[in-house]
Amino acid sequence: MSKDYNRSRVAELIRQLLVEIGEDTDREGLQRTPERVAKSFEYLTSGYRADMDTLINNALFEAATNNMIICRDIEVYSLCEHHMLPFYGRCHIGYIARKKVLGLSKLARIVDYYARRLQIQERLTAQVARRVMDLTGAEGVGVVMECKHLCMMMRGVEKQNSIMTTSSVLGSFHNDDPTRAEFMNLIAKPTP
Ligand code: ZN
Repeated sequence: MSKDYNRSRVAELIRQLLVEIGEDTDREGLQRTPERVAKSFEYLTSGYRADMDTLINNALFEAATNNMIICRDIEVYSLCEHHMLPFYGRCHIGYIARKKVLGLSKLARIVDYYARRLQIQERLTAQVARRVMDLTGAEGVGVVMECKHLCMMMRGVEKQNSIMTTSSVLGSFHNDDPTRAEFMNLIAKPTP
């Protein structure tokens, strides 16, 4: 896997793709499309090239709390690795800190870090949970993701309204039923 993104090379590949699907790459609307798509893919796959330390930027704070911390409704946009079509939805993260808590916006950045690459929802969910656990040394972590997949909506079974839910629970969220139940209960509450 190359670490650097070669935008002009990607643009040329997109131009060839346009030809193969039967398009006229010289028509007005498509003239700058290869460059635009290349630029767009650079962003959508930026997770491959992002640096987690830079992203967290020391936003780890000492905390005496051992209450459950929950961040609900983090927006998720990713690309399915089977069709390279988007899947999108919401992610809820909860953890019980031991000594360290993360700045709230950093949870969203961790989601983006793993979402901006080719993914399957199950792995994305597990990677976010594992990273929050490793960064904070939490007693337990729970992540639930609810997404719609365009590869299911636009093609294949063409089910427009199905939502896929995945979860990953670690530590006390895995071992302790009341903790897991509290988390599931808290993320199920209607948005204020
Ligand atoms: Zn797919």
